[in-house]
Amino acid sequence: MVANTTVPAGVTLREDTLAFLNNDKQLLINGEWVAPAEGGSMPTLNPANGETLLNFAIGTQADVDKAVDVARRALHGAWGQMTGDDRGRILWKIGELIEANIDMLAELETLDSGKPLESSKGEISNAAAQFRYFAGWASKIEGSTIPVSNPDELVYTIREPMGVVGIITPWNFPLLMVSWKLPAALATGNTVILKPAEQTPLTALALGNLALEAGLPPGVFNIITGPGDPTGNAITHHMGIDKVAFTGSTGVGRKIMAAAANSNLKRVSLELGGKSPHVIFADADLEQAVGDAQWGVFYNTGQECTSGTRLFVQRPAYDEIVERFKALTGEMTVGNGLTNPDLGPMISERQLNTVMGYIKAGVDEGAEVITGAERIGGDLANGYFLQPTVFAHQNDSLTIVREEIFGPVQTITAFDDWDDLIPRVNNTVYGLAAGIWTSNLKTAHRFAAATQAGTIWINGYAKFDPAAPFGGMKQSGFGREMGKDVLELYTQTKTVWVGLR
Ligand code: NAP
Ligand code: MG
Repeated sequence: MVANTTVPAGVTLREDTLAFLNNDKQLLINGEWVAPAEGGSMPTLNPANGETLLNFAIGTQADVDKAVDVARRALHGAWGQMTGDDRGRILWKIGELIEANIDMLAELETLDSGKPLESSKGEISNAAAQFRYFAGWASKIEGSTIPVSNPDELVYTIREPMGVVGIITPWNFPLLMVSWKLPAALATGNTVILKPAEQTPLTALALGNLALEAGLPPGVFNIITGPGDPTGNAITHHMGIDKVAFTGSTGVGRKIMAAAANSNLKRVSLELGGKSPHVIFADADLEQAVGDAQWGVFYNTGQECTSGTRLFVQRPAYDEIVERFKALTGEMTVGNGLTNPDLGPMISERQLNTVMGYIKAGVDEGAEVITGAERIGGDLANGYFLQPTVFAHQNDSLTIVREEIFGPVQTITAFDDWDDLIPRVNNTVYGLAAGIWTSNLKTAHRFAAATQAGTIWINGYAKFDPAAPFGGMKQSGFGREMGKDVLELYTQTKTVWVGLR
């Protein structure tokens, strides 16, 4: 078997990874891998070298129609009739199979997305944890008994599945973003049609095999690969899809709401972009703070929705933090994810060019480059590699301070006190996350109350857990994934009145 991509000297891919890469990929409909109705396919690339890994199918309207049909039948058939306990067992098994295949899945994730192998492993382990967490919920979906004013009426509620759910995911955390949605949708009894991002379909397709191996009945989990148009569009406009769960950009989020409005008013939940503030007060543990601020912006080469890209440092600590940030950033390694550098490549030439455009805007508008700002050539010239970049500025209206960059670019600014800070922190259309470093308890909790963001991290950035709800305020979206809150997104309440007289 021959790998479809060049790997760095000294690296050998696993046999199971090579076996997976050896075949072009089809659609998963009704428990079978099938060719797309119109026969189209497209390549997925390795962003470390621009080479094609394999071709995968482009699903169109006819394929989505077929998937909706089988998903509807499974909803009212085998899956709908299964007990929560049995659904939970299958979810648990999928989690176990993900763990058992973590090394292969991590290699696929790294080849497809560029991210460092250790990051892939960590994310895939978290994906497995999501399945285990929601396995527990499958047998605990319950309504309530409502005391109404007339004692002769018994009123109770049932929580029913939404029905057929479309899941549309981005490329930055390929398997993990699927795993923030799929287990919750299945635990609550829905059936699913997944469209992974066109740049990174591999681990979702591998998950399809594991789900079948775990005993998921046919039609419960279907995978229709392809681009936003036509594949994503066919899902969001479909009259037979009851809900769409989406993670991606704010721009596409708007289109999804419009598609829902113009079709069957399907339910929509959106996890969108961000421009998160990360604040360091002068009384903080500066060493810890700067380390977290560095990883909080450069993890996944900055292609992260919660990236702490607006760093606010209280003036007495400002010079020291800028110096430390510069030194730490200069030491970061960039390379092919298979060699475990600190940063892998950007996902695509297009994304690299977008980020280079932002860097140019930063320079043109007068921000000071502290370090980085160049594309990396030499051995890495065929991939989409960029130096981690830090800007200093004193102007919150700069393009690089207002817009989501989605690349390895930090902006650092100084603030004086609370009254200066809070209006600036909230001066953004986004509200996904925010972080603060301080040793003052009051300041920390006042910040948590005053900041408009769905998640606040105090003295530690970018923490996630399947039990902790996550989601956006303002234009970062709506709906909370994970934890108990997500059950609301995948169920609807039916109220039953019983006359007792
Ligand atoms: P994107 O362009 O919005 O794409 C996300 C998904 O939507 C992809 O699968 C894409 O298909 C699909 N899509 C595109 N146009 C569509 C349409 N008209 N109808 C239906 N589906 C469509 O986002 P991205 O570039 O992949 O990811 C980056 C963005 O995601 C960033 O803005 C980031 O902040 C956000 N994000 C948010 C979170 C969060 O939890 N809040 C997490 C991760 C990422 P293709 O296959 O054609 O791309
Ligand atoms: Mg790829």
